Amino acid sequence: MLRPLVFLALTGGLSALPALSQIVPPGKVQVPDDEKPSKPFVWSERRLLTAPELFDAPDEWVDRSLQWVDFILANYHPSIPEHPLRRAALIRLDDILHLESAPRNQLVQKFYVNRMRRAIEEIEQTKVVSGMRIWKLYNCGFLVRTPTVSYVFDIVPGLSIPGFAVPPELMERLVKQADAHFISHFHNDHANQSVVRLFLAQDKPVIAAEGLWKNLPEFAGKLIYPQRSTDIVHSVPVRGGSQTLKFVAYPGHQGAPVLNNLHLVISPEGFSVLQTGDQWNDEDKPGSDFDWIAQIGRQHKVDVLLPNAWSREVGRIVRGVNPQLVITSHENEMSHTVDHREDYTQTYTRFWAVPYPLAVMTWGESYHFHRVEAPKLGLR
Ligand SMILES: [Zn+2]
Ligand SMILES: [Zn+2]
Repeated sequence: MLRPLVFLALTGGLSALPALSQIVPPGKVQVPDDEKPSKPFVWSERRLLTAPELFDAPDEWVDRSLQWVDFILANYHPSIPEHPLRRAALIRLDDILHLESAPRNQLVQKFYVNRMRRAIEEIEQTKVVSGMRIWKLYNCGFLVRTPTVSYVFDIVPGLSIPGFAVPPELMERLVKQADAHFISHFHNDHANQSVVRLFLAQDKPVIAAEGLWKNLPEFAGKLIYPQRSTDIVHSVPVRGGSQTLKFVAYPGHQGAPVLNNLHLVISPEGFSVLQTGDQWNDEDKPGSDFDWIAQIGRQHKVDVLLPNAWSREVGRIVRGVNPQLVITSHENEMSHTVDHREDYTQTYTRFWAVPYPLAVMTWGESYHFHRVEAPKLGLR
């Protein structure tokens, strides 16, 4: 039985086999010409640096895998350095979430909603007495809590697919836990009208990219559109005016046409967090966003950076911001087709040569940040 394999190895291996036919995309995905695959074992060039996915899988495998992922993540929390079992769990999650059917799979939906429910319950029960705790919710959604304030970025319930969304009563409980909401741009994986309605009903500020829903009478005059600027430090009162959040609305873009604010938020204690929304630098020429991104760390001491993991040349963004910690976002956004559903596998690859502490987290996980003061150097 082994002889044919030995023969193949000696005569140049697999090249002796007839060429494999090209893999067909799952579902109705159209692969644009510039993403046509260069290798026969992938169906889109964008999938080249991730192990090939199954196009469908038995529920038994999905179910046991999700239970295992939950078990590993419950026992090996985000830490620096990261325990290797976490990476195994997140990559298994990639495998599941890249099934074409994943957004419609009730096991996946249950996994998502349960994780979000547990996170919201945990947020309700967590009092922060030092440092800050950051929960990663769906996509680029985060809740940041310090001893004095809590605020959120880009909160959405999930997908518009029934079953893949946090129920309204749970969203209301989440909004109760936050004092302010920062929205980077209008895309519906970042901005959600029902969530904003909850904030306004609770008389809490919503700070949004220029002109978000300004033509809708319901929201007219109720959202705060800060001047986009690299210099202006804005203030917004929260908690009935007893605390103040300071923030900068950096004038970013997702490609040229979409205005995307990078909000740097500074808590009353001085803890600062920068979230990048969907920052995507279309061009790299004098005057492009990279120019001012390269200066952020010189203007402000940034504790935590929350970048969209797939942002172009993301290492340059990290270096410009120069944070103490990076927590990535926007992996496995399930409204995207499988080829554009950026995975954890590629997050690890993209950040491999970025020499900053990195926490890769999934839905509902949190990390407690403590500032590390630089040691004072001196001669003895
Ligand atoms: Zn976007
Ligand atoms: Zn997005």
